[in-house]
Amino acid sequence: MRTLIQGGWVVGYQHGHHALLRDGVVVYEGGRILHVGPTFAGQVDRTVDAAGKLVVPGFVNLHSVANIDIQTLTLDCSEIGFAASRASAVEGGDPIELSGERLRASARFSLLQTLKAGSTTIVESTTMAPSRFEVSRQEVPALVEAAQELGARLYVSHKFRAGKRYLDADGAWKIHWDVAAGRAGLAYGKEIVRRYEGAQQDRIRTMLFPYQFDTCTPELLAEVKAAGRELNTAIHMHTSQTLAEFHECLNRTGRTPVQLLEQIGFLDQQTILTHLLYTTLHPASGFPVQDDSDLRIVADHGTTVVHCPVVYARRDRILDSFARYRSRGVNVVLGTDTYPQDMIEEMRWASLGCKWQDRDASHGSAAEVFNAATLDGARALNRDDIGRLAPGAKADIVIIDFTRQHIGPVDDPIKTLVYVANGTDVETVIVDGRVVIEQGRAPGINETTLVAEAAAAHLWQAEQFVKHHPSGKSTQTLFPSSYPRVPQ
Ligand SMILES: [Zn+2]
Repeated sequence: MRTLIQGGWVVGYQHGHHALLRDGVVVYEGGRILHVGPTFAGQVDRTVDAAGKLVVPGFVNLHSVANIDIQTLTLDCSEIGFAASRASAVEGGDPIELSGERLRASARFSLLQTLKAGSTTIVESTTMAPSRFEVSRQEVPALVEAAQELGARLYVSHKFRAGKRYLDADGAWKIHWDVAAGRAGLAYGKEIVRRYEGAQQDRIRTMLFPYQFDTCTPELLAEVKAAGRELNTAIHMHTSQTLAEFHECLNRTGRTPVQLLEQIGFLDQQTILTHLLYTTLHPASGFPVQDDSDLRIVADHGTTVVHCPVVYARRDRILDSFARYRSRGVNVVLGTDTYPQDMIEEMRWASLGCKWQDRDASHGSAAEVFNAATLDGARALNRDDIGRLAPGAKADIVIIDFTRQHIGPVDDPIKTLVYVANGTDVETVIVDGRVVIEQGRAPGINETTLVAEAAAAHLWQAEQFVKHHPSGKSTQTLFPSSYPRVPQ
């Protein structure tokens, strides 16, 4: 079936960059885009009227915590409070891990939320229970099943590490190391790649995911890289998320995390470093502020950095800065991390955070953050068939309703998108030529039931967390509420 979408504004891809086509059209057939331009002379089977609306390529979301997690409980807590909340609850046990129906609800809920706000390609990164060396082996199958039902384009990976943090009886931070457990996780991660790569008409792709730089030994990471080369698969990893992680690496090895990764041959175009907040260029690093050597290394190897501004702004920090990383040649892309899984909000925060950080209103422009959410995200995945509306590309298309009252007059649709709109303005989402969100809802999904199931899973997890926390503290102490609760 051949479908024509009559914009509004269409963000088409021409001559190597996006262009704004006023009253443009997009035509797709099956899973591919046939034509993008001012008009279309051929026959079509169906026409979608998107007058007054914005038609864009689906967003490429490089880091989405695709499960119910408890980060929202830690809002307004200091870093200490946040870190303590993540402490290993019970050595060896896994009291807060979701399984069975709760896990299924978690996967469906999270993927649906991410899709509804316009992400069509999602690199999932579920949270690991603090007491585990690997994420539950039920996780990836649950996500693949949810992607099948909802129609998302999903990159899955099995998370593993060789160390896990915990608070000992004296309240000191320790890492419990078990390299064999890390290796077992890697072996299963490779199995996941072999099992799922290319599944669901190639909407499912895979990666390797050593979970955190600081809980993987250099030897394990070298083995991961070798496995990545053997399988020709990308690797993503949380890296340099805290100043403590940065300095701990420097003290232990004499190298920054980036320098160490370069030394073991980990960095190339198939490597995606998530967050990378602390480098030699960061003012708090102790290096002279003009030392951009870490970023030069990252750029020289063609390695990508994933920026998730909302989650870190909530924790009092932001990439320093989006524009400075880009100016050193780093491919900076965007991810939603946790709730509300809204790529439009991430674009807005990437832009505003950058302007604030650099004290320059011209930095972090709407065009730059939109590129990060589309073309640059595709580049991170070594793909030229997503993140753009062009003949031959995947029919991954999003329609955003600009006729709503809060949007106001539209001078430049990309600026309106980035500075005014949000994920609830997404009206239609098409993945691989299939309409997966229509009028803001997923056809055939009972959202009321799903939201209730997700809330129940979240509540169960939060209760388990408090019950098993080594401090023995109450919910109110661990996660203080904004105002007194009545009744308590
Ligand atoms: Zn993350």
